[in-house]
Amino acid sequence: MYGPGSSNKHMALCYTLENLRREECVKTMSCDLCDATFSADSFDQWCELMKGHYMSAHSDFMADNHSKEDGLRWMETMKAKFDSL
Ligand SMILES: [Zn+2]
Repeated sequence: MYGPGSSNKHMALCYTLENLRREECVKTMSCDLCDATFSADSFDQWCELMKGHYMSAHSDFMADNHSKEDGLRWMETMKAKFDSL
């Protein structure tokens, strides 16, 4: 009854529930420079995805000299947007 088979099934069920719970708080927001969308369950995670996207898709933009203030303003704007989703 409680062989390895049943405990595996139990673990699989827990894993599925965990994934469902995670999906509930996943938010999708698009890039502010193009139509690419990214899904993440936190703003920090979304930012990480965006960083990679900016490097590959908007390297010209990244190459421009942006001040720290510009970066902070961008973060604030995007975080407010992400939070309001
Ligand atoms: Zn983009």
